[in-house]
Amino acid sequence: MALRKKLCEGSNFNGKIMDSFARYYSSMMDLRKLKPMIQKRIQNRAKDYPVPAMVPVAQEVFNSRRLVMQGVSTLLKMAPVLACKFCPEVYIGEKGHLIQTCYGFKRRGKNRVHEWIVGGLKDVLVPVEAFHLKHMFQDVIKHHQRFDFERVPAVVELCWQAGANDGNYLNWNSESDCVGVDGAEFLSSDELILVASGTLRAWEILRNGVEKLLMVYPAKVCKHCSEVHVGPSGHKARLCGIFKYESWQGTHFWRKANVDDLVPPKIVWRRRPHDPQVLLNEGRGFYGHAPAVVELCTQAGAIAPPKYHCMMKLQGMIENGVQDGSQNQLNAYCPSVGA
Ligand SMILES: [Zn+2]
Ligand SMILES: [Zn+2]
Repeated sequence: MALRKKLCEGSNFNGKIMDSFARYYSSMMDLRKLKPMIQKRIQNRAKDYPVPAMVPVAQEVFNSRRLVMQGVSTLLKMAPVLACKFCPEVYIGEKGHLIQTCYGFKRRGKNRVHEWIVGGLKDVLVPVEAFHLKHMFQDVIKHHQRFDFERVPAVVELCWQAGANDGNYLNWNSESDCVGVDGAEFLSSDELILVASGTLRAWEILRNGVEKLLMVYPAKVCKHCSEVHVGPSGHKARLCGIFKYESWQGTHFWRKANVDDLVPPKIVWRRRPHDPQVLLNEGRGFYGHAPAVVELCTQAGAIAPPKYHCMMKLQGMIENGVQDGSQNQLNAYCPSVGA
């Protein structure tokens, strides 16, 4: 008691507390005064966008995306793609593999063989949609506004925000960009290789371009449900998890999005010439992987860029003799890809 009294008297203790309250209160006041200034700064920031140097990149991404969709649609008329009925697994081939990685529905248990059905474009090029913003620095979209904003492919939204213009800005039509070449059945093998090589090249340009755009334009992805938002803030329009069959419905947990979130590579198992006709669970350590588009295009005769060779276990096969294969040798080539 005596100490407190001494403190109060000696150092004007109460006065200091009142001071800090007053300062806090005045800073609240300042915030209110600052708001118009902050809004003005945000508006001014919007004037710096789109960044002129990135407009050609956005345009190139836009065009490549369309080419990839058309190319894959064309190739799918010739090559079979299978999808699992219970989980997101995809396989490019006549017969599905027997590798036991199905986690399907909970009641089926883990590590089951997949149940294959005929797949399509969406299994190779996984659709990722986002809200189309009226302008990049608009206010955060609220839940009650969720029907006021159109859903468009996230890459398209990124390109639009980055200044690409396809003349289709106001009436986006998802049908228009996934039409394959007519008469694909009658393409010669040389023509097919041309389509496959062009598609693979466009896929690389698309992914590289998106990577560049994401260095300049912010995009977010939810850690829990993979919802993507193109723009500096997240949104509050859709609840987390409701579209992904998850039980909890809360706010999203946003983190910075990368190219895989906007253009999912959709990694598939792949069969090499010496592998058995149907991939077996026992051999899974020896089989390669590839993004579904890369696998589809290489099966149709395109040559995979070197960066995929280790994942596809191509070097492992040639230089290390996978036939008598040791798991360690393979992993040494490609430590990032597990069996
Ligand atoms: Zn499955
Ligand atoms: Zn979420």
